[in-house]
Amino acid sequence: MKTVNEHDQFASRHVVAPESSNRATRAVIDLDAIAGNIRIFRDLVTPSTMLMAVVKANGYGHGAVMIARTALKAGADQLAVATVDEAIQLRQAGIQALILVLGPINGGEISTAISNQLQLSVGTLDAIDAISDTARSLILEEPVKVHLKIDTGMRRFGCMPDQASSLVKRISTDNSLELAGVFTHFASADELDEQRTLEQKAEFDATLRSFGAAGIAGGICHAANSAAALRSRLYDYDMVRIGISLYGIAPSAEIGLVDGLKPAMSIRSKIGRVFELNPGDRVSYGGTYVANQREQAALIPIGYADGYRRGLSGKAWIGVDGVRCPVLGRVCMDQTVIGLRGVKVVREDDKVAVAGDREQAAPSIDDLAEIAGTIPYEIVTGINRRVPRFFMENGKLVAIEDLSGLHELA
Ligand SMILES: *Cc1c(COP(=O)(O)O)cnc(C)c1O
Repeated sequence: MKTVNEHDQFASRHVVAPESSNRATRAVIDLDAIAGNIRIFRDLVTPSTMLMAVVKANGYGHGAVMIARTALKAGADQLAVATVDEAIQLRQAGIQALILVLGPINGGEISTAISNQLQLSVGTLDAIDAISDTARSLILEEPVKVHLKIDTGMRRFGCMPDQASSLVKRISTDNSLELAGVFTHFASADELDEQRTLEQKAEFDATLRSFGAAGIAGGICHAANSAAALRSRLYDYDMVRIGISLYGIAPSAEIGLVDGLKPAMSIRSKIGRVFELNPGDRVSYGGTYVANQREQAALIPIGYADGYRRGLSGKAWIGVDGVRCPVLGRVCMDQTVIGLRGVKVVREDDKVAVAGDREQAAPSIDDLAEIAGTIPYEIVTGINRRVPRFFMENGKLVAIEDLSGLHELA
């Protein structure tokens, strides 16, 4: 068993950018894993199918700018986000790749979106009209690229299949707009039973046929999320939209990862204080943990405001020197207490593995999701911005993103 120190990739050996965070609690992001995962998907999907790296929600909590750059460098063709603000963050970081805003856009965002060369998802005539009106008023050199979203069963956003053909016509005959794509989204691709996904695909295919001979001209068709891309080549079309599994996380327990996909996030912290509990001592709010013997405990500076969810209270564990140390009592907003039974020597400032580092006995992101009664998506997207992201590439710290911004290290 290796010690914590042998695994430390981010301590004082590296120069830390001036005024960047050195908070003990941090998310370490393995950019080599992200690049490797892109290459695995490149090999997995049909050669002519493009890869869209979905970096919404701050790159699923991993840091959108660094993930976007890494994914593009490794061969991703396009990016996707959920909101206009998320896309603008990428543009402001100098990223010029195609970016599709997957979610519906509101009227007040249209001109900002257009001036940032974003591709927009549309599902209603009203949205198309509004984008067209704004585009005309801006007198643009190029038409605004839109993707028509078709609702084949998700009942969330998108036009009904029987409206699609007239909306395609509406977009294609408007010279301020360009139909860059047509897409749908699967509701149950992460379930063992493929029936509903096959039905959605059949509905999508029928809708595409309803466009007739002209089709969607130069536009592309796309449908697959991670789960659909992992399960079959049936859903590849012209592009796949890879979110959760770009980060090395399986979409569900039913749809596993393919060989080689690697999780990119680990969460680490340090021991803030070591102290003794006496029999009868109650720990944390509500005193839900009662010591029944003398035992050592430690305070870890991570809490639910960091995204270390309160549902982990009394159930999760943190890896200390290769030992699973249970969370004692309730997780607080900024602090958590763990028991140190079985750990040999431990001091203030020793490193601990909160999530991701298997060899340090940390739970995986999947473990934390299961314990907290949620899905891994919610765990990673819930890691708060106050947790600095430490980006590693080729074993070296290359950037830190914290509350003051992204600090790149030469
Ligand atoms: C988030 C999202 C994806 C990515 O889904 P994953 O399950 O994370 O791969 C794809 N398409 C749309 C429309 C999305 O909103």
